[in-house]
Amino acid sequence: MRLACSECGVDAASGSLFCSECRGLLEFRLDPAPHDVHALRLLFKERRASNDSLDQSGVWRFRELLPAIAPEHVVTLRENAIPVYRAQAGAVYADATRLAYLHLGMNPTASFKDAGMTVAISSARSRGSRVAICASTGNTAASMAAYAARAGMSAIVLVPAGGVSEAKMAQTLDYGATVAAIDGDFDRALEIVRTFDSERVAIVNSINPYRIEGQKCAAFVLLESRRWNAPDWIVVPGGNLGNTSALGKGFREARDLGLLTRIPKIAVVQAAGAAPFANVFRDGGDLVPVEAETDATAIRIGAPASWRKALGEVRASDGTVISVGDDEIAEARAIVGRDGVGCEPASAASLAGLRKLREDDTIARDDDVVLVLTGHVLKDSAYAAAFHASVARLANKIVRLPDEAALRALVDRASAVYA
Ligand SMILES: *Cc1c(COP(=O)(O)O)cnc(C)c1O
Ligand SMILES: [Zn+2]
Repeated sequence: MRLACSECGVDAASGSLFCSECRGLLEFRLDPAPHDVHALRLLFKERRASNDSLDQSGVWRFRELLPAIAPEHVVTLRENAIPVYRAQAGAVYADATRLAYLHLGMNPTASFKDAGMTVAISSARSRGSRVAICASTGNTAASMAAYAARAGMSAIVLVPAGGVSEAKMAQTLDYGATVAAIDGDFDRALEIVRTFDSERVAIVNSINPYRIEGQKCAAFVLLESRRWNAPDWIVVPGGNLGNTSALGKGFREARDLGLLTRIPKIAVVQAAGAAPFANVFRDGGDLVPVEAETDATAIRIGAPASWRKALGEVRASDGTVISVGDDEIAEARAIVGRDGVGCEPASAASLAGLRKLREDDTIARDDDVVLVLTGHVLKDSAYAAAFHASVARLANKIVRLPDEAALRALVDRASAVYA
């Protein structure tokens, strides 16, 4: 694998984050070396029965397709051992007959960031870095803090004051990171982080190409669960757009290696108050940053760093980009909960987006669709609690029973439903 500029293509030194010629983001390029795809599929599958920690990771299990890092430097929490669930309530809600959730919130720190972080922190450790730093709306912070703790590195996090869920903050503090709240938003925090020298401290935001390599493995896990058959569509929430870039790269590489015959169309869903990518997809030209505002804090990002890479992936897949309102996200999130699965607000943008894409028939009723759920329901328990105490249609209020007879009557009524 070689590291190159994603824009002008010149080679880059490992450890750097930007192209020395054009300042573009870097990316790893897989050698088109011939692989025996049957042997490769079998190898990936056999590793799932192994007790080796690398084999139990849904990232390192695919190490032939990752940048080389010596096993003794790998820091893993067995990330990406993630389920694909059939969507039931979600399918009815969106009027889609073949629907599944790829639940990346079932990762060790409860978001997809772990799949990228294991590679970014392992690479930093192999280079001898002592300090990791990131800007975060919460999940990158929690993930970096956990992996840095395992690696014996110091972790420093910049967050927008008041812009991160309590649960994510508590989790990050628990793993021992130093958390610095700033007065600006996420975009400002990332701007500050980008001024550090990446040779001195490990910058582990998704501008770090090692993050993208780890996150692309979610595509492999999904494909493997489907005997290497791609769905028609994959729907993913978009914030800083690292994950869109990563998933697109994963599918393309799988196709180029001969592991699958066609790639899925990628639909990216943004929150209406933070939708600069939906704008640039519609209008063309360069991305125009916005002042981001949405209750889905994980995608409250106005100047997405990976927009060029992501746009390339969406176009290469013949996909689309749309936005949905916060009310639509709130209702869709409650539906994912009714499926016994649950997710945080940003993740539910995918179901809200699918519903919209079904309404205008961009996605057909019988298309084979996978929704990416990016974070766990407990990542923003305050949001869920407030929703259920509200007047929303799907709010599920706590009941007060006057006496035991009322409880017995309640049980009788519930039993009658199944009689
Ligand atoms: C980080 C994150 C996103 C956004 O992903 P990008 O790669 O920034 O587009 C969406 N949902 C959750 C839960 C996240 O943590
Ligand atoms: Zn360049």
